[in-house]
Amino acid sequence: MSDLQRGTCRRIAIEEAFCTAAVLTALREWAAAAGADEADQDLLSFLFDQELPGPRRVRRQLLDLEDERLAVMDSGGVDVQLLSLTAPGVQALADGPATALTARVNDQLAEVIARHPRRFAGLAAIAPQDPRSAAREIERAVHELNLNGVVINSHIRGESVDGERYWPIFETAQGLGVPVYIHPGSPSALLAPACTSYGRKSGIYGFQAEIGLHGIRLICSGALDRFPDLRIVLGHLGEGIPFWLWRVDDTRPANGSRGSRPALELTPGEYVKRNFMITTSGVNCHPALRFCIDEVGADNIMWATDYPFQRTEGAVEFMRSAPISDDDKHKIFHRNAERVFGIAPLAAAVGGG
Ligand code: MN
Repeated sequence: MSDLQRGTCRRIAIEEAFCTAAVLTALREWAAAAGADEADQDLLSFLFDQELPGPRRVRRQLLDLEDERLAVMDSGGVDVQLLSLTAPGVQALADGPATALTARVNDQLAEVIARHPRRFAGLAAIAPQDPRSAAREIERAVHELNLNGVVINSHIRGESVDGERYWPIFETAQGLGVPVYIHPGSPSALLAPACTSYGRKSGIYGFQAEIGLHGIRLICSGALDRFPDLRIVLGHLGEGIPFWLWRVDDTRPANGSRGSRPALELTPGEYVKRNFMITTSGVNCHPALRFCIDEVGADNIMWATDYPFQRTEGAVEFMRSAPISDDDKHKIFHRNAERVFGIAPLAAAVGGG
Protein backbone atom coordinates (compact mmCIF):
# COMPACT_ATOMS: atom_id res chain seq x y z
CA MET A 1 0.00 0.00 0.00
CA SER A 2 1.02 3.60 -0.49
CA ASP A 3 -0.26 6.75 1.12
CA LEU A 4 -1.82 7.93 -2.16
CA GLN A 5 -0.56 11.47 -2.25
CA ARG A 6 -2.78 14.25 -3.41
CA GLY A 7 -3.62 14.19 -7.10
CA THR A 8 -3.16 10.43 -7.47
CA CYS A 9 -6.60 9.40 -6.20
CA ARG A 10 -9.78 11.43 -6.54
CA ARG A 11 -11.46 12.19 -3.22
CA ILE A 12 -15.25 12.33 -3.20
CA ALA A 13 -16.77 13.14 0.19
CA ILE A 14 -20.36 12.06 0.41
CA GLU A 15 -21.92 13.21 3.70
CA GLU A 16 -21.42 16.95 3.44
CA ALA A 17 -24.06 19.20 4.93
CA PHE A 18 -25.47 22.58 3.99
CA CYS A 19 -28.47 24.69 4.89
CA THR A 20 -30.30 27.53 3.19
CA ALA A 21 -31.50 30.81 4.69
CA ALA A 22 -35.12 29.87 3.91
CA VAL A 23 -34.83 26.55 5.79
CA LEU A 24 -33.14 28.29 8.70
CA THR A 25 -35.97 30.82 8.93
CA ALA A 26 -38.61 28.08 8.76
CA LEU A 27 -36.85 26.07 11.47
CA ARG A 28 -36.52 29.11 13.67
CA GLU A 29 -40.26 29.81 13.39
CA TRP A 30 -41.10 26.17 14.03
CA ALA A 31 -38.81 25.96 17.06
CA ALA A 32 -40.33 29.12 18.51
CA ALA A 33 -43.85 27.75 18.11
CA ALA A 34 -43.14 24.17 19.20
CA GLY A 35 -42.70 23.11 22.79
CA ALA A 36 -39.19 22.50 24.11
CA ASP A 37 -39.85 18.76 23.99
CA GLU A 38 -40.69 18.81 20.35
CA ALA A 39 -38.05 21.17 19.08
CA ASP A 40 -34.78 19.57 20.01
CA GLN A 41 -32.86 22.55 21.23
CA ASP A 42 -29.62 20.57 21.44
CA LEU A 43 -29.73 19.75 17.77
CA LEU A 44 -30.91 23.19 16.71
CA SER A 45 -28.37 25.04 18.83
CA PHE A 46 -25.78 24.96 16.07
CA LEU A 47 -28.23 26.82 13.86
CA PHE A 48 -29.50 29.34 16.37
CA ASP A 49 -27.04 29.74 19.20
CA GLN A 50 -24.75 32.47 18.03
CA GLU A 51 -23.13 33.13 21.40
CA LEU A 52 -20.70 30.26 21.11
CA PRO A 53 -17.90 30.20 18.52
CA GLY A 54 -18.48 26.54 17.56
CA PRO A 55 -22.13 26.91 16.54
CA ARG A 56 -21.34 30.28 14.96
CA ARG A 57 -18.73 28.68 12.72
CA VAL A 58 -20.93 25.68 11.88
CA ARG A 59 -23.88 27.89 10.94
CA ARG A 60 -21.69 30.09 8.78
CA GLN A 61 -20.23 27.07 7.01
CA LEU A 62 -23.64 25.41 6.53
CA LEU A 63 -25.04 28.53 4.85
CA ASP A 64 -21.99 29.03 2.64
CA LEU A 65 -22.12 26.82 -0.42
CA GLU A 66 -19.21 28.14 -2.42
CA ASP A 67 -16.63 30.55 -1.02
CA GLU A 68 -15.39 29.18 2.30
CA ARG A 69 -16.51 25.65 1.40
CA LEU A 70 -14.39 25.50 -1.74
CA ALA A 71 -11.47 27.04 0.15
CA VAL A 72 -11.70 24.35 2.85
CA MET A 73 -11.98 21.65 0.19
CA ASP A 74 -8.93 23.04 -1.61
CA SER A 75 -6.79 23.38 1.48
CA GLY A 76 -7.88 20.02 2.88
CA GLY A 77 -7.60 18.12 -0.39
CA VAL A 78 -11.22 17.26 -1.17
CA ASP A 79 -12.10 17.05 -4.86
CA VAL A 80 -15.88 16.66 -4.66
CA GLN A 81 -18.50 17.16 -1.96
CA LEU A 82 -21.84 15.38 -2.30
CA LEU A 83 -24.07 17.95 -0.62
CA SER A 84 -27.12 17.21 1.51
CA LEU A 85 -29.53 19.37 3.50
CA THR A 86 -28.47 19.24 7.12
CA ALA A 87 -30.54 17.62 9.88
CA PRO A 88 -33.24 18.16 10.96
CA GLY A 89 -34.24 19.07 7.40
CA VAL A 90 -37.88 20.04 6.97
CA GLN A 91 -39.36 16.84 8.34
CA ALA A 92 -41.05 18.44 11.32
CA LEU A 93 -42.76 21.20 9.31
CA ALA A 94 -46.30 21.14 7.91
CA ASP A 95 -46.61 19.10 4.71
CA GLY A 96 -47.30 21.85 2.17
CA PRO A 97 -44.70 24.40 3.30
CA ALA A 98 -42.14 21.62 3.79
CA THR A 99 -42.62 20.29 0.26
CA ALA A 100 -42.43 23.81 -1.19
CA LEU A 101 -39.22 24.44 0.75
CA THR A 102 -37.56 21.30 -0.57
CA ALA A 103 -38.20 22.43 -4.15
CA ARG A 104 -36.45 25.74 -3.40
CA VAL A 105 -33.58 23.92 -1.67
CA ASN A 106 -33.12 21.53 -4.60
CA ASP A 107 -33.24 24.35 -7.15
CA GLN A 108 -30.60 26.25 -5.21
CA LEU A 109 -28.48 23.12 -4.86
CA ALA A 110 -28.68 22.44 -8.60
CA GLU A 111 -27.58 26.01 -9.34
CA VAL A 112 -24.49 25.62 -7.17
CA ILE A 113 -23.63 22.29 -8.80
CA ALA A 114 -24.09 23.83 -12.25
CA ARG A 115 -21.60 26.54 -11.35
CA HIS A 116 -19.06 23.98 -10.06
CA PRO A 117 -19.84 20.69 -11.79
CA ARG A 118 -16.45 19.17 -11.00
CA ARG A 119 -16.61 20.07 -7.30
CA PHE A 120 -20.16 19.31 -6.21
CA ALA A 121 -22.89 16.73 -6.55
CA GLY A 122 -26.01 16.63 -4.40
CA LEU A 123 -28.81 14.70 -2.75
CA ALA A 124 -32.41 15.83 -3.13
CA ALA A 125 -34.07 17.18 -0.01
CA ILE A 126 -37.58 15.83 0.49
CA ALA A 127 -40.48 16.19 2.91
CA PRO A 128 -41.08 12.48 3.64
CA GLN A 129 -44.06 13.32 5.85
CA ASP A 130 -45.91 13.76 2.54
CA PRO A 131 -44.65 10.66 0.72
CA ARG A 132 -46.48 11.18 -2.60
CA SER A 133 -45.23 14.75 -2.92
CA ALA A 134 -41.77 13.61 -1.83
CA ALA A 135 -41.78 10.98 -4.58
CA ARG A 136 -42.72 13.62 -7.16
CA GLU A 137 -39.94 15.89 -5.92
CA ILE A 138 -37.44 13.03 -6.22
CA GLU A 139 -38.48 12.55 -9.85
CA ARG A 140 -38.12 16.24 -10.56
CA ALA A 141 -34.80 16.45 -8.72
CA VAL A 142 -33.35 13.53 -10.65
CA HIS A 143 -34.86 14.15 -14.09
CA GLU A 144 -34.78 17.94 -14.23
CA LEU A 145 -32.03 18.87 -11.78
CA ASN A 146 -29.73 15.85 -12.22
CA LEU A 147 -29.33 15.36 -8.48
CA ASN A 148 -27.67 12.13 -7.39
CA GLY A 149 -29.89 10.64 -4.71
CA VAL A 150 -32.11 11.46 -1.75
CA VAL A 151 -31.51 12.31 1.89
CA ILE A 152 -33.87 11.51 4.77
CA ASN A 153 -32.85 13.03 8.09
CA SER A 154 -33.81 10.21 10.47
CA HIS A 155 -37.28 9.51 11.83
CA ILE A 156 -40.33 11.28 10.44
CA ARG A 157 -42.21 12.92 13.31
CA GLY A 158 -41.32 9.94 15.44
CA GLU A 159 -42.02 7.28 12.83
CA SER A 160 -39.34 4.97 11.54
CA VAL A 161 -38.64 5.23 7.81
CA ASP A 162 -39.58 1.56 7.18
CA GLY A 163 -43.33 2.25 7.51
CA GLU A 164 -45.28 1.26 4.39
CA ARG A 165 -46.61 4.80 4.23
CA TYR A 166 -43.11 5.82 3.11
CA TRP A 167 -42.63 3.09 0.52
CA PRO A 168 -43.57 5.38 -2.41
CA ILE A 169 -40.29 7.16 -1.67
CA PHE A 170 -38.34 3.91 -1.91
CA GLU A 171 -40.26 2.76 -4.97
CA THR A 172 -39.44 5.99 -6.78
CA ALA A 173 -35.78 5.96 -5.74
CA GLN A 174 -35.44 2.36 -6.90
CA GLY A 175 -37.14 3.15 -10.19
CA LEU A 176 -34.80 6.05 -10.84
CA GLY A 177 -31.76 4.09 -9.68
CA VAL A 178 -30.77 6.62 -7.01
CA PRO A 179 -29.81 5.82 -3.41
CA VAL A 180 -31.49 7.01 -0.22
CA TYR A 181 -29.12 8.32 2.45
CA ILE A 182 -30.56 7.95 5.94
CA HIS A 183 -28.80 10.55 8.03
CA PRO A 184 -29.13 10.97 11.81
CA GLY A 185 -31.25 13.58 13.48
CA SER A 186 -32.17 13.92 17.11
CA PRO A 187 -33.56 10.68 18.54
CA SER A 188 -37.26 9.95 18.19
CA ALA A 189 -39.57 9.51 21.16
CA LEU A 190 -38.47 5.87 21.20
CA LEU A 191 -34.99 6.79 22.31
CA ALA A 192 -35.02 10.40 23.40
CA PRO A 193 -35.99 9.77 27.05
CA ALA A 194 -33.09 7.36 27.43
CA CYS A 195 -30.67 9.73 25.75
CA THR A 196 -31.59 13.04 27.34
CA SER A 197 -29.71 12.67 30.59
CA TYR A 198 -25.94 13.03 30.39
CA GLY A 199 -26.20 14.53 26.89
CA ARG A 200 -26.25 11.28 24.93
CA LYS A 201 -28.47 12.45 22.08
CA SER A 202 -25.82 13.01 19.49
CA GLY A 203 -22.79 11.05 18.32
CA ILE A 204 -22.09 9.79 21.81
CA TYR A 205 -25.02 7.39 21.40
CA GLY A 206 -28.39 8.68 20.14
CA PHE A 207 -27.55 9.26 16.46
CA GLN A 208 -26.15 5.83 15.78
CA ALA A 209 -28.69 4.00 17.97
CA GLU A 210 -31.58 5.61 16.09
CA ILE A 211 -30.25 5.06 12.56
CA GLY A 212 -28.99 1.56 13.28
CA LEU A 213 -32.54 0.79 14.41
CA HIS A 214 -33.99 2.22 11.16
CA GLY A 215 -31.57 0.09 9.17
CA ILE A 216 -32.51 -3.13 10.94
CA ARG A 217 -36.21 -2.26 10.72
CA LEU A 218 -35.91 -1.66 6.97
CA ILE A 219 -34.50 -5.16 6.61
CA CYS A 220 -37.05 -6.84 8.88
CA SER A 221 -40.03 -4.97 7.38
CA GLY A 222 -39.70 -6.79 4.07
CA ALA A 223 -39.16 -3.46 2.24
CA LEU A 224 -36.00 -4.83 0.64
CA ASP A 225 -37.87 -7.84 -0.76
CA ARG A 226 -40.38 -5.44 -2.28
CA PHE A 227 -37.59 -3.15 -3.57
CA PRO A 228 -34.66 -5.50 -4.20
CA ASP A 229 -32.67 -2.92 -6.18
CA LEU A 230 -33.07 -0.14 -3.60
CA ARG A 231 -29.79 1.28 -2.34
CA ILE A 232 -29.73 2.57 1.25
CA VAL A 233 -26.73 4.56 2.49
CA LEU A 234 -25.86 4.70 6.18
CA GLY A 235 -23.13 6.95 7.54
CA HIS A 236 -20.82 6.48 10.52
CA LEU A 237 -19.55 3.10 9.34
CA GLY A 238 -23.03 1.65 9.19
CA GLU A 239 -24.31 2.96 12.53
CA GLY A 240 -23.12 -0.14 14.38
CA ILE A 241 -24.85 -2.66 12.11
CA PRO A 242 -21.67 -4.31 10.73
CA PHE A 243 -20.47 -4.98 14.26
CA TRP A 244 -23.75 -6.64 15.21
CA LEU A 245 -24.28 -8.49 11.97
CA TRP A 246 -23.10 -11.92 13.00
CA ARG A 247 -25.43 -11.91 15.97
CA VAL A 248 -28.33 -10.49 13.93
CA ASP A 249 -27.91 -13.22 11.32
CA ASP A 250 -27.56 -15.87 13.99
CA THR A 251 -30.75 -14.75 15.71
CA ARG A 252 -32.93 -14.01 12.72
CA PRO A 253 -33.51 -16.93 10.36
CA ALA A 254 -34.14 -15.98 6.74
CA ASN A 255 -37.32 -17.93 6.30
CA GLY A 256 -40.55 -18.22 8.19
CA SER A 257 -42.79 -15.55 9.63
CA ARG A 258 -43.63 -15.44 13.29
CA GLY A 259 -46.08 -13.00 14.86
CA SER A 260 -45.58 -9.59 13.31
CA ARG A 261 -42.36 -10.75 11.71
CA PRO A 262 -42.68 -11.18 7.92
CA ALA A 263 -40.85 -13.96 6.13
CA LEU A 264 -37.75 -12.64 4.43
CA GLU A 265 -36.12 -13.91 1.28
CA LEU A 266 -32.56 -13.33 2.50
CA THR A 267 -30.61 -13.20 5.73
CA PRO A 268 -30.05 -9.73 7.22
CA GLY A 269 -26.38 -9.93 6.26
CA GLU A 270 -27.33 -10.65 2.66
CA TYR A 271 -29.53 -7.54 2.56
CA VAL A 272 -26.75 -5.45 4.06
CA LYS A 273 -24.34 -6.59 1.36
CA ARG A 274 -26.89 -6.27 -1.45
CA ASN A 275 -28.76 -3.09 -0.51
CA PHE A 276 -26.65 -1.06 1.92
CA MET A 277 -23.66 1.20 1.45
CA ILE A 278 -21.90 2.56 4.52
CA THR A 279 -19.72 5.64 4.82
CA THR A 280 -16.79 6.62 7.00
CA SER A 281 -18.39 9.90 8.17
CA GLY A 282 -17.44 10.76 11.72
CA VAL A 283 -15.49 7.53 12.34
CA ASN A 284 -11.83 8.06 11.50
CA CYS A 285 -10.79 4.77 13.06
CA HIS A 286 -8.55 2.37 11.13
CA PRO A 287 -9.40 -0.85 13.03
CA ALA A 288 -13.12 -0.13 12.57
CA LEU A 289 -12.59 0.49 8.85
CA ARG A 290 -10.65 -2.74 8.44
CA PHE A 291 -13.34 -4.64 10.27
CA CYS A 292 -16.02 -3.17 8.00
CA ILE A 293 -14.02 -4.11 4.89
CA ASP A 294 -13.91 -7.69 6.20
CA GLU A 295 -17.57 -7.73 7.16
CA VAL A 296 -19.37 -5.91 4.31
CA GLY A 297 -16.65 -5.56 1.67
CA ALA A 298 -14.75 -2.58 0.28
CA ASP A 299 -17.27 -2.29 -2.57
CA ASN A 300 -19.88 -1.21 -0.01
CA ILE A 301 -17.92 1.54 1.76
CA MET A 302 -17.55 5.22 0.81
CA TRP A 303 -15.58 8.07 2.28
CA ALA A 304 -17.05 11.20 3.89
CA THR A 305 -15.84 14.12 5.97
CA ASP A 306 -19.16 15.19 7.58
CA TYR A 307 -18.42 18.84 6.82
CA PRO A 308 -18.82 21.19 8.64
CA PHE A 309 -19.33 19.15 11.81
CA GLN A 310 -16.02 17.29 11.60
CA ARG A 311 -12.58 18.42 10.52
CA THR A 312 -11.83 17.93 6.84
CA GLU A 313 -8.11 17.40 7.38
CA GLY A 314 -8.72 14.61 9.90
CA ALA A 315 -10.97 12.70 7.50
CA VAL A 316 -8.53 13.11 4.62
CA GLU A 317 -5.54 11.98 6.67
CA PHE A 318 -7.49 9.01 8.07
CA MET A 319 -8.27 7.67 4.61
CA ARG A 320 -4.97 8.63 3.01
CA SER A 321 -3.01 6.75 5.67
CA ALA A 322 -5.43 3.83 6.08
CA PRO A 323 -3.62 0.46 6.29
CA ILE A 324 -5.58 -1.06 3.40
CA SER A 325 -4.77 -1.89 -0.22
CA ASP A 326 -4.54 0.85 -2.85
CA ASP A 327 -7.37 -0.81 -4.70
CA ASP A 328 -9.65 -0.60 -1.66
CA LYS A 329 -8.58 2.99 -1.10
CA HIS A 330 -9.57 3.93 -4.64
CA LYS A 331 -12.92 2.22 -4.14
CA ILE A 332 -13.63 4.02 -0.88
CA PHE A 333 -12.22 7.42 -1.89
CA HIS A 334 -14.08 7.68 -5.20
CA ARG A 335 -14.95 4.60 -7.30
CA ASN A 336 -17.91 3.43 -5.22
CA ALA A 337 -19.34 6.94 -5.03
CA GLU A 338 -19.03 7.33 -8.79
CA ARG A 339 -20.87 4.05 -9.30
CA VAL A 340 -23.57 4.49 -6.67
CA PHE A 341 -24.34 8.19 -7.13
CA GLY A 342 -23.73 8.39 -10.87
CA ILE A 343 -20.87 10.87 -10.52
CA ALA A 344 -18.93 10.97 -13.79
CA PRO A 345 -15.48 9.44 -13.36
CA LEU A 346 -12.48 11.51 -14.35
CA ALA A 347 -10.26 10.33 -17.17
CA ALA A 348 -8.40 7.26 -15.89
CA ALA A 349 -5.04 8.98 -16.06
CA VAL A 350 -6.21 11.76 -13.72
CA GLY A 351 -8.43 9.80 -11.37
CA GLY A 352 -6.13 6.85 -10.91
CA GLY A 353 -8.74 4.47 -12.30
MN1 MN B 1 -23.58 14.26 8.99
